[in-house]
Amino acid sequence: MTSLQEPAKHLKAQGMKPGGRRPAKELCSECGLCDTYYIHYVKEACAFLNQQIAELEAEAHGRSRNLDNWDDVYFGVHQDMMQAKKKQPIEGAQWTGIVSTIAIEMLNRGLVEGVVCVQNSKEDRFQPQPVIARTPEEILAAKVNKPTLSPNLSILEQIEQSKMKRLLVIGVGCQIQALRAVEKELGLEKLYVLGTPCVDNVTRAGLQKFLETTSKSPDTVVYYEFMQDFRIHFKHEDGSLETVPFFGLNTKELKNIFAPSCLSCFDYVNSLADLVVGYMGATFGWQWIVVRNQTGQEMLDLVGDLIDTQPVITQGNRKQAVQQSIPAYDKAVTLPMWAAKLMGVVIDKIGPRGLEYARFSIDSHFTRNYLYVKRNHPEKLEAHVPDFAKKIVEQYHLPNS
Ligand code: FAD
Ligand code: SF4
Repeated sequence: MTSLQEPAKHLKAQGMKPGGRRPAKELCSECGLCDTYYIHYVKEACAFLNQQIAELEAEAHGRSRNLDNWDDVYFGVHQDMMQAKKKQPIEGAQWTGIVSTIAIEMLNRGLVEGVVCVQNSKEDRFQPQPVIARTPEEILAAKVNKPTLSPNLSILEQIEQSKMKRLLVIGVGCQIQALRAVEKELGLEKLYVLGTPCVDNVTRAGLQKFLETTSKSPDTVVYYEFMQDFRIHFKHEDGSLETVPFFGLNTKELKNIFAPSCLSCFDYVNSLADLVVGYMGATFGWQWIVVRNQTGQEMLDLVGDLIDTQPVITQGNRKQAVQQSIPAYDKAVTLPMWAAKLMGVVIDKIGPRGLEYARFSIDSHFTRNYLYVKRNHPEKLEAHVPDFAKKIVEQYHLPNS
């Protein structure tokens, strides 16, 4: 449990300079907290130094996950879940632009004075540039994923200096864990948190390697996503779509590109956001919405007229595919492209869909990450892996070493 009872003490601290080794060392996800004087709280707040999801869930949502309820175990505390898409998608958004639309509505209706989101640098479309957006145009300029580690919390000092009292923060799990831990110190009257799921993130250099290893035209990629059809979809500048089957990825080359933080993360579903918008629990073309609490419901209600919704579905059985993926990843097996395409087609026809696809993805990543922590940071295993993740991993047979 955090006890961050010393207001203003942090003002005496000083953020670290870019490039310095952060307190979490190689596990640092560059969330941005340590770039600010809130580094004062890093020992309690850092998701990689002090995993405290259950305690922070209780503070944010009024309760932590019920470990006897499998939906809670997998998807976190929630009061509603659905599939949704914008009636008029935002051109160039990652999916249909529900995240940007909620943020714009919150600003336009005066619920918040600013929105923490991530634009890109002028020189590089994938280089993250965290900002506090104060106009709809600035929010729209942050649409689409910057699929790299992003120091969103580096703007925390600006929040205090701006004297804003009502704020929306958009972010991924590690950023939101640290944010929740220092929430009481920010001097806000109301903080809204809009999260996305996140997995397998990379440094900017790692992203370049991934694009060069996987896409036929790395320099023209404007967007990519690991889709529910077991293919990566790359969209290029000229609007063309390139698809590559997951099973044909050059696993040997790519095994080392994922950031160590992401190989030891168990907060795929962004447990501490009020509202989560992703895609993996939805069928193809739809987004997946998880409403965690009443604040999240209030945020979603703002866009009720702008989205179509339908209930979530679940179909298929992931277990065998997950069990087989464990040694395959370990041995870095790469299938020849024709076999990869065939396997993709077969799995797409008979494989997991809807929530079962989300469980497939969570299981494969948690088993891999559990092994990573066990092998590389055995002293952290017990405290760092949350109980819900242990329960998920226990369903599978893992190699002993
Ligand atoms: P848009 O309206 O396009 O808005 C995107 C928002 O994301 C912007 O507000 C921007 O500020 C924010 N953003 C962009 N890059 C980052 C970043 N690096 N860190 C923090 N915030 C950022 N969903 C899944 O269901 N499964 C996944 O495995 C998954 N992996 C993801 C990995 C990453 C690195 C990110 C950033 C997102 C991931 N998502 C995942 C979420 C999904 O890809 C979409 O972002 C989400 O569905 C919202 O789509 P949208 O069209 O509504 O967003
Ligand atoms: Fe600091 Fe964030 Fe890195 Fe942890 S993950 S060491 S809080 S910058």
